[in-house]
Amino acid sequence: MPVGTQATVKGLAQRDLEELGVQILLANTYHLFLRPGHELIQRMGGLHQFMSWRNAILTDSGGFQVFSLSGLRKITDHGVVFQSHLDGDLHTFTPESTVDVQLALGSDILMALDECPEYPVSHEYARESIERTLRWARQAHEHYLRRMGTSPTRHALFPIVQGSMFADLRRRCAESLVQLQTDGYAIGGLSVGEPRHLSLEMVEATEDLLPRDRPRYAMGVGMPAELPEYVARGIDMMDCVLPSRNARNGYLFTSQGRIIIKHARYKDDPRPVDENCGCYTCSRYSRAYLRHLFQSGEILYAVLATRHNIRRYLDIMREIRQAILSDSFPTYLRTIRLTSDDSE
Ligand SMILES: [Zn+2]
Repeated sequence: MPVGTQATVKGLAQRDLEELGVQILLANTYHLFLRPGHELIQRMGGLHQFMSWRNAILTDSGGFQVFSLSGLRKITDHGVVFQSHLDGDLHTFTPESTVDVQLALGSDILMALDECPEYPVSHEYARESIERTLRWARQAHEHYLRRMGTSPTRHALFPIVQGSMFADLRRRCAESLVQLQTDGYAIGGLSVGEPRHLSLEMVEATEDLLPRDRPRYAMGVGMPAELPEYVARGIDMMDCVLPSRNARNGYLFTSQGRIIIKHARYKDDPRPVDENCGCYTCSRYSRAYLRHLFQSGEILYAVLATRHNIRRYLDIMREIRQAILSDSFPTYLRTIRLTSDDSE
């Protein structure tokens, strides 16, 4: 899922996303709650209409941003009081209010409010924290069921497995969340500064506990070579700002590894970014031209680069789906492990 933090995937128009075959994107509850406000978006017909996006939208609960962006925050059992990073105003998120905000946005897949502890934390803190996340998930779920009783449209709510980097806590959290029998499950608290092998181990820890017939969503991952690793551990959905953010910073992902477009070696390189890519950028423009646009700070660079990187990520997921359908996923995974270069 490409990330559209402010109800836009930076650099791409909705038509571009549709042409790339994007079926679902992520929008950030915290940011849209603060600006322009969920009530305004609701008055404008909901997020789908506001941003002119017909396909699915997943919203996070806002919890991660409260913990990573907000200058001041106070966690109580009731919820979290936080200070806006925009103007310093105080706001409160509760398990119930974040369901209401996400429903006002008209999100298709909602996340339950969770606490996302920083890394590292003690086992003791992480244990207290998952108890809070579990209580919040139950409250959010009850509120969601009440709201769905009168809702003309169908929405899903995913609770989030937390537990920092402790496999026993991850398992305890997943076992309790599964009792809610929700439409899907998210795995959060990854990509918070931990070594990459730990993120994979934490996903592995709950692999046998989460129901096989419900989607599993690993939040905020990963690098191109990691996507098949997560899928190998049962993950169905992922979101990451990497393809779009790295594109703008000059990092292009290709089937042959990463390209840093500002490097002098590309200054007169007539080849496309990736000779195996069918995207608009690769079918029309050279590395030399993209490097020139990047060096000149041209807006078109961000547009073309983002378009290519999103396409690369979607192509990887397409390759994975095909490998699974043709029963060749283990071979595919082995090839990726052999050819992927760590600098990616
Ligand atoms: Zn391309």
